[in-house]
Amino acid sequence: MVLVQDRPVLGGNASSEVRLWVLGATSHMGNNNRWAREGGVIDEILVENTYRNPEGNPLLFDALLLEMVAKEPNITLLLNTAVYEAEKKDEETISSVKAVCSQNQTEYVLTAPLFVDASGDGIVGFLAGAAFRMGAERKEEFGELFAPDNTYGELLGHSLYFYSKDVGKPVSYTPPSFALQDITQIPRYRSFNAKDIGCRLWWIEYGGRLDTIHQSEEIKWELWKVVYGVWNYIKNSGEFPEAETLTLEWVGMIPGKRESRRFEGDYMLRQQDIIEQREFEDAVAYGGWSIDLHPADGVFSEKPGCNQWHSKGVYQIPLRCLYSRNISNLFLAGRIISASHVAFGSTRVMGTSACVGQAVGQAAALCKEKSIQPKDIFLKNHLPALQQALLRSGHFIPNVKAIANVGGNLVANASISASSELVLERLQEEGRISLSEAVAQMFPVKKGAAPSIIAHAFSDLPTELEVELRIASSANNFTPKVVLETKKLSLLPGRNCLRFTWEATFESEQYAYLVFHKNDVVQLATTLQRITGILSLFNTVNKAVSNFGRQEPPAGIGIDSFEFWVPKRRPAGENISLHFKPGLAAFGAENIRNGLARPTTAPNAWVAALTDKQPCLHLQWPEKQTVKRIELSFDTDFDHPMETVLMTHPENGMPFCVRAYEVLDENDNLIFQKEGNHQTRNSILLPEAIETTSLKIRLQHPAENIPAALFEVRCYPA
Ligand SMILES: Cc1cc2nc3c(=O)[nH]c(=O)nc-3n(C[C@H](O)[C@H](O)[C@H](O)COP(=O)(O)OP(=O)(O)OC[C@H]3O[C@@H](n4cnc5c(N)ncnc54)[C@H](O)[C@@H]3O)c2cc1C
Repeated sequence: MVLVQDRPVLGGNASSEVRLWVLGATSHMGNNNRWAREGGVIDEILVENTYRNPEGNPLLFDALLLEMVAKEPNITLLLNTAVYEAEKKDEETISSVKAVCSQNQTEYVLTAPLFVDASGDGIVGFLAGAAFRMGAERKEEFGELFAPDNTYGELLGHSLYFYSKDVGKPVSYTPPSFALQDITQIPRYRSFNAKDIGCRLWWIEYGGRLDTIHQSEEIKWELWKVVYGVWNYIKNSGEFPEAETLTLEWVGMIPGKRESRRFEGDYMLRQQDIIEQREFEDAVAYGGWSIDLHPADGVFSEKPGCNQWHSKGVYQIPLRCLYSRNISNLFLAGRIISASHVAFGSTRVMGTSACVGQAVGQAAALCKEKSIQPKDIFLKNHLPALQQALLRSGHFIPNVKAIANVGGNLVANASISASSELVLERLQEEGRISLSEAVAQMFPVKKGAAPSIIAHAFSDLPTELEVELRIASSANNFTPKVVLETKKLSLLPGRNCLRFTWEATFESEQYAYLVFHKNDVVQLATTLQRITGILSLFNTVNKAVSNFGRQEPPAGIGIDSFEFWVPKRRPAGENISLHFKPGLAAFGAENIRNGLARPTTAPNAWVAALTDKQPCLHLQWPEKQTVKRIELSFDTDFDHPMETVLMTHPENGMPFCVRAYEVLDENDNLIFQKEGNHQTRNSILLPEAIETTSLKIRLQHPAENIPAALFEVRCYPA
């Protein structure tokens, strides 16, 4: 495989040249997508980056991407090499592309059976004559009620960021002569923050009314004008005394491009697919960012810099959006996939782009293996093979399960037992949290009666506390919209023991939410115990992303209203101290082959009891098996968004992740040992295949208050 990149480093907008943080279905901005961070390759990258680079240094992220690509023997990387021509062997087939490297004065002719265009502007697709669009669709075309008209604008613009630093002594500043002089042209000038840098300057946007490809250099000059004008105002207007010791450390040379061409596949994703979370037979990826559109006048607009409308949960992306409808051997990845302008408002973010990229990469491998074209995967029934291969690599597709016995996975036929299985009876009391904002505790339930629950509250005054038992509006989301029961409790000053029994029953396995409404005089008992698949949520406000505690879109745009329930940033996220009767038995060893390697409607993990001093999973077969490869999947907290820059991370190894484990054969011989693990997927290739009737996987608890958990185990003879 040849990877061609016209710039000196990898990552596109995520590189140190542009410095955007990678986000996707999980975001610190606040949405109702739980455990939604993308899996597979991007998970490996983000987990590694968070481990090595929790401070979000963009240069370290560049080096990590280069390292990961350089380590792949199958990839030939051509940096500083721009594709500029495509040769076709017939109307619908690309035979080769030409590229030139500015640094070694070499031209490359790259001949291949398949091409993937992930170039942002879609250079290969454009040169090959693939059908594309630029600008917004009319409302009528797909019935998208959120489709903008010309007054709002139909293209998103570019942005340029800057970084400043405090040098500890006064620094004067003389702007270049091209800097914007009249700052009042930027309506936001009254609320500048002198300390904002990088991604927080997303609103320095321009170009949505121009041709964002052919006028890109013009747009960049205008953005430089704005950047230096903003900095001049901060340094020299006298309004920002705190800026006296600040100097500019870096200004973007390459603008971040949001939107240009969108290509047409066999299907175009649209607003309703996102908002209604529609299902597709050929789902291979997913998204979860809001539909995030911006006024085309950008930084010069009086309108809010963005409009973000969310779905209640994540949505599927079908394979038919990931290849060109008229160029038979061209896959699409990144922001150019087949989506309407409105749907693109959500699919364009980098976590989603990476998820799509993984699906396309795997699809290309399948096409090569079977000598077929992208369209044939769907038409000739190769989709199950594609989906299963993706899931095996740690990729997640909402509502698609891995099948245990696919590909010779020996675990499918093993009998499974464990030294212990957590039955969650009590989250022990260790602290308190104020009910100055409403809190919900998520807990997994089975079909049938609700468990009775005891909680403890502390009140300053006699007061009434409202508590609800809620569930999500569908199994596809984590928006706790349905109130099953409401309790109004009279609290006395001091400690109050709150006992809940419920009439309500659950129709299926799912998460329930115990919602404690805001009450400023009340505190709840909390615990520091952290358990895979257990989360507390807060009804938070983040105006920057149109979140006022609720999503309240204007009528007539086809987007729902609902409340936002969001976890606190780690490690602050405490659970509420609760006592369940009967205890929650959702953490059994059988979960390691249930086809789901992250929490969905249940934790989907084997979790050991904390009292178990040597947690051990035991796989047994009636006859000897040949085992060469063992794949384990640990909990690196899919609810934690792992921004690559700027947003620092309080912990580098994820707290739920098992650090140390060992694997033993039928005679208790040690066949593999790991210490210092921080990765989700551990793929162990034994030096020699072994013959055994059993495997024991012994785990260490990650911490005193965090029990060991394992989502998935697979074993293969080769
Ligand atoms: C200001 C701004 C803020 C954003 N905020 C966020 C955010 O907070 N989080 C988030 O996840 N996303 C965000 N996005 C969206 C996201 O950055 C883009 O949608 C995403 O980077 C698109 O990925 P891509 O791979 O399609 O394109 P790119 O990231 O642009 O990558 C395309 C790559 O192809 C290369 N290329 C182009 N032409 C050629 C050629 N002819 N030959 C060889 N190589 C070529 C480019 O150099 C580039 O490296 C934002 C975008 C902008 C501009």
